[in-house]
Amino acid sequence: MHLSLVIPCYNEEETINLMYNELIKVFEGNQGLEILFVNDGSKDNTLSEITKLAQTDERIKFISFSRNFGKEAAMFAGMKYASGEYIGILDSDLQHPPSMLPEMIKALDEGYDVAAARRTNRSGEAAIKSFFSHRFYSVINKLADVKIEEGAQDFRVMKRKVVDSILNMTEYFRFSKGIFSWVGFKTKWFAHGNIDRPAGKSKFNTFKLFRYAMDGIISFSVVPLRISLIFGIVVSIIGYGYGISIIISTLITKSAGTGYGYASLMSGLLIIGGTILICLGILGEYISRIYIETKSRPLFIVDKTNII
Ligand code: UDP
Ligand code: MG
Repeated sequence: MHLSLVIPCYNEEETINLMYNELIKVFEGNQGLEILFVNDGSKDNTLSEITKLAQTDERIKFISFSRNFGKEAAMFAGMKYASGEYIGILDSDLQHPPSMLPEMIKALDEGYDVAAARRTNRSGEAAIKSFFSHRFYSVINKLADVKIEEGAQDFRVMKRKVVDSILNMTEYFRFSKGIFSWVGFKTKWFAHGNIDRPAGKSKFNTFKLFRYAMDGIISFSVVPLRISLIFGIVVSIIGYGYGISIIISTLITKSAGTGYGYASLMSGLLIIGGTILICLGILGEYISRIYIETKSRPLFIVDKTNII
């Protein structure tokens, strides 16, 4: 067996060594192993921690980006540079416990193509975060073409053929949870509880998570566009109906107005105006993505690496 473990790292100087020690415990003396750290433009000493380790253990490989490109890009780069027949992805903060890897690998040996991890409880997480996360899964599963398991993680081990199909998807706006599900293949799920970070802090704030959720929905669904069309049709039908009724009543009573005046005019105007702007905004989200995708810029730029 030749296993590559891809570990995206952004400002993880405190966790790199903890991670390495944990992996060594799990894979003691295993020669068919490659540990591939992807330094995603860290501003702290992450890179020097990695290079120090690489000097002591030749199973350690690294690629270091020229700037921060985001976790999605880091995972993509890691999969691209990985040489193993089995390829695993895990966070460097030990929230994806390496001790689960042996049974995940066993599942691949037994004929599964993917062994993926699901977080089944969110204890220790802010209630509001859990609430929105839960809503997100139910919305995306209703709107999108792909099914995403609640609590699905990026933590997984895949066979080479699965990784090759993921690498064929070179879209710029990457939403891996969707991509993993979109490519299919026989998947076995492994549940684990919530694990707190031993050191450092989360790189995803509320705003970043919101953007991530938006990217997920827009990448995998055109339903929002259809909703704006349906919304427009409904508003138009009501508008035409009401307009015609006003004209008819004016003709019958021969008076120039119905007496509603300023309030009715203004509220009508504002409601329609707001609706149009929302629909334009939805359209804009899709068009801006088309614009950026057509540039086909590279997903990441490598500055340093010890892979030849
Ligand atoms: N990460 C990355 N690039 C980024 C943000 C995060 O490579 O721009 C890495 C980070 O170092 C960690 C993993 O992605 O190994 C998950 O990040 P984090 O633990 O901050 O996210 P959370 O577990 O809180 O969702
Ligand atoms: Mg984490």
